[in-house]
Amino acid sequence: TKPNAELTLVKQEQLVLGTFGQISAYSSSETEGNAAISKAYERITEIENLMSTSIEGSDVYHINENAGIQPVQINPSTLEVLQKGLEYFPVSKETFNIGLGSLIELWGIGKAWQKVPTSEEILTAMNHIDLSQLQVSEKDHTAFIKDSDMLLDLGGIAKGYAVDEAINILRENGIQSGLVNLGGDIYALGAKTDGTPWRVGVNNPHVGQDNSIIRISISDKSVVTSGDYERFFVENDIRYHHIINPKTGSPADSGLVSVTIISDKAMDGDVLSTSVFILGLEEGLNLIENLPGVETILISKDNVVYASSGIKGNIEILDNNFKMGN
Ligand code: ADP
Repeated sequence: TKPNAELTLVKQEQLVLGTFGQISAYSSSETEGNAAISKAYERITEIENLMSTSIEGSDVYHINENAGIQPVQINPSTLEVLQKGLEYFPVSKETFNIGLGSLIELWGIGKAWQKVPTSEEILTAMNHIDLSQLQVSEKDHTAFIKDSDMLLDLGGIAKGYAVDEAINILRENGIQSGLVNLGGDIYALGAKTDGTPWRVGVNNPHVGQDNSIIRISISDKSVVTSGDYERFFVENDIRYHHIINPKTGSPADSGLVSVTIISDKAMDGDVLSTSVFILGLEEGLNLIENLPGVETILISKDNVVYASSGIKGNIEILDNNFKMGN
């Protein structure tokens, strides 16, 4: 293999999983780099075709279509994600729920039918989010929702899984250094060619994309951010966004505007960023401090930045409208 400095940086951007995907890889040739990245995108597309709620014929579509009727055969990847999702329900203090589809459909954030539902509609949908109604059989490779009005939604976990899988594909194809970013779910593979870690930004929650207010340096870690600025609509000055608190049936309002999770797997980061966003500062920080190998950076409505103990010293704040709070 060539010395690091002779490697070429290859990049491809593509719309995948309803978001903007960016994959970069250092490779010994442009052809090899592009081939590896294309394979990574193929795997991401495969995952989308299994786990999207809207693609007819996806596993999730089949499971939802057969709710209350019969168990359906699912792909091992879907099985893995479902099992992980179920495991996280108790860990997340019952904030992360892969069976929230009926509420997510009702609010329709980011969809043509988005609206503020009536409290009656919310209460009705909340009767159909009981995860004990979801049966997953590892032996038979099937999944079944017993409640015919309950719907699965893997929107809070599938993207993280896809990032991890894309990284596996890059590694299998000889890439030792690269970056995968699927709409804010990031994994930094290895270090840059000069041996320094990758630098990843956390966006200004009031501005959104490409406005970093915090910078952290990482290698072989994922950085996943959930915010109320990604998908939302505003009605009567209230911002309704896409992270739903299962306990209220409405968009979470915990006082946080952005939650970043740094972990070994983007799938964990995806789930935990949503969970901490709902739990809020105190309970959220507490949850992360008790999970080994996981760190978090939280931003509150009043622009105060909080961080877990393992990362506090390594945060660079780039915008003086934001202050460290702990
Ligand atoms: P994004 O990266 O697209 O901003 P997040 O990782 O923040 O997404 O997750 C938001 C998505 O997760 C929603 O669009 C919805 O599909 C799903 N979701 C919303 N609330 C919950 C919840 N409490 N538990 C599990 N999934 C959720």
